[in-house]
Amino acid sequence: MSWVPSSLKKLIENLKKLPGIGERSGFRIAYFLLKDRDTLENLIESLREVNERVKLCKICHGFSEDTDICPICTDERRNSGVLCIVERPEDVNIIESVQGLGWKYHVIGGVLSPVRGITLDKLNIFDIRDRIRKENIKEIVMALSPDVEGDATISYILQLLSDMEVSISRIAVGLPRGIDITLMDPFTLKESILGRRKLK
Ligand SMILES: [Zn+2]
Repeated sequence: MSWVPSSLKKLIENLKKLPGIGERSGFRIAYFLLKDRDTLENLIESLREVNERVKLCKICHGFSEDTDICPICTDERRNSGVLCIVERPEDVNIIESVQGLGWKYHVIGGVLSPVRGITLDKLNIFDIRDRIRKENIKEIVMALSPDVEGDATISYILQLLSDMEVSISRIAVGLPRGIDITLMDPFTLKESILGRRKLK
């Protein structure tokens, strides 16, 4: 194999760790960036900025920028009493894009999966009870992906909240089981929110 600078090899190795990037695309992106140094500089700047500024909100565990508490949690207009439980910070944006701005969110950071080492203590679920009390939450909407792990997580949260005065529903009516929520089109997602069914 011909000589390749070691720093370039390292870049390709790091690019390959990104989702959807294999050997060939890692190679192509690395060579593209070396040719287009402006884009390379901007990318370096963006990566540094996002790394320094974006953190997880101390209340909902979704994304926040520069502050400990995110703008969604400090938005006083979000007083509908609905708390939507999602798996990942990016799920908040997906739900918000079809649901509008009335809800609050709680990112649990994964779903129960003993096989992948995701146990209860790794999820942000124990502070949901506190939020229900402090923020006067009347309804919990579970927006977890409809698969076995999502179901197990929902069952546990139901147990955890069984003595609380709150109604609990889940989305995903009429959707094929096993589909990832990030892959749904907005229309289908909106339909499943409207068709959520009561669990408690
Ligand atoms: Zn927040």
